[in-house]
Amino acid sequence: MPKIFENTEVAFSLKSDSELERAYWLFKMISCQPLVRIGTAATNFALNANLPVEGLIRSTVFDHFCGGVNEQDCLPVIDSMYAKNVSSVLDFSVEGKEMESFFDAAMEKTLKIINFADEKKSMPIAVFKPTGFGRFHLYQKKSEGEAFTEKEQEEWNRVVARYDSVCKLAKEKDVEILIDGEESWMQDAADELCEAMMRKYNTGIPIVYNTLQLYRWDRLDYLKQLHERAKKDGFTIGVKIVRGAYMEKERERADEKGYESPICANKAATDLNFDETLEYILRNLQTISLFIGTHNEQSSYLAMQMMADLNIEKNDNRVWFGQLYGMSDHISFNLADHGYNVAKYVPFGPVKDVMPYLIRRAEENTSVAGQTSRELMLLKAERQRRKI
Ligand SMILES: Cc1cc2nc3c(=O)[nH]c(=O)nc-3n(C[C@H](O)[C@H](O)[C@H](O)COP(=O)(O)OP(=O)(O)OC[C@H]3O[C@@H](n4cnc5c(N)ncnc54)[C@H](O)[C@@H]3O)c2cc1C
Repeated sequence: MPKIFENTEVAFSLKSDSELERAYWLFKMISCQPLVRIGTAATNFALNANLPVEGLIRSTVFDHFCGGVNEQDCLPVIDSMYAKNVSSVLDFSVEGKEMESFFDAAMEKTLKIINFADEKKSMPIAVFKPTGFGRFHLYQKKSEGEAFTEKEQEEWNRVVARYDSVCKLAKEKDVEILIDGEESWMQDAADELCEAMMRKYNTGIPIVYNTLQLYRWDRLDYLKQLHERAKKDGFTIGVKIVRGAYMEKERERADEKGYESPICANKAATDLNFDETLEYILRNLQTISLFIGTHNEQSSYLAMQMMADLNIEKNDNRVWFGQLYGMSDHISFNLADHGYNVAKYVPFGPVKDVMPYLIRRAEENTSVAGQTSRELMLLKAERQRRKI
């Protein structure tokens, strides 16, 4: 495959000189672990103490990694990316709230986004997180096969109803709906619910997509079994494949509780699992549609190569590539420039409430040293090209 991701002019075509500078300094800062640790603690303290730091956060990390505080706010970002053929997946990124009123509000938000997406070609896909619609411990209890109390059963019925409302509207409006993957010890219940939605709404082209985290060594087998059930019972499958975001937490818990870690032994094993799953899906596109969520260049090149080998059109609607807003523009914009389907997750929400998301991005960019240095190198190359 030609090395298309090296083209920094295409990659950063939407960034003004000052935005390019901001991105460069931001990645430079978050590449420094102690700085991220101190910055995170100081920001949390300042927000909790109601110090006036929101403006500062907005003009730095927030504006780089988020589209805005509400969906209307994200419109300029959505429109400008779409001018370069990059679609948006609006992601209401408020996390860690566990009240029924929040779950209802998150569902309403997702319904609103689907209606909004229905009117805009630039937003063919929507997303939600399982724990956005129900309590973590409820998923966990169900995953562990424990019986619910009567009250919990009623609560779970409301979670099911939220999934159903969203998937039903997504089907009516023909907007694909991605369901994010979370910690393994709550995921079985989410998988079960997601499969029920696929059975109901994936009667033709898949609308409902579950997430496979391929740092888990059991996921390809899970997919193959799901595929058997789908063929037998006449429904189709949507999957988003990612490597997985909770590795440290997963390993720590397995260690602490003394069970076998669900995570692949090393990075190479995760990569192999990812590649094999990618190939399995691309060979079965008749019944499985794919969203490839990765910032890994090798995986993206491999997917392009496999598509070419299997005679799959670059813009086949059953294959989408996805990155997060503010990261890996060299992959997103160059893929789109070459005719592939690309969508970026565009997180939004009140500054204070998206802090957990922003902190995860900062920490991820710190711990995945390779990724940060790659971003920095490309930003540097583009600064030089523009003679900044
Ligand atoms: C559009 C999009 C949607 C996403 N949605 C989700 C989601 O729903 N749920 C979720 O959990 N994550 C999600 N992620 C995050 C994703 O799981 C990864 O954390 C992130 O993308 C980094 O992986 P990579 O493939 O981009 O890059 P890489 O840098 O190649 O891979 C890093 C990843 O490899 C794995 N890894 C690293 N070291 C080891 C090791 N020693 N042993 C085993 N595995 C290792 C980890 O998963 C790590 O995150 C999403 C990412 C994107 C771009």
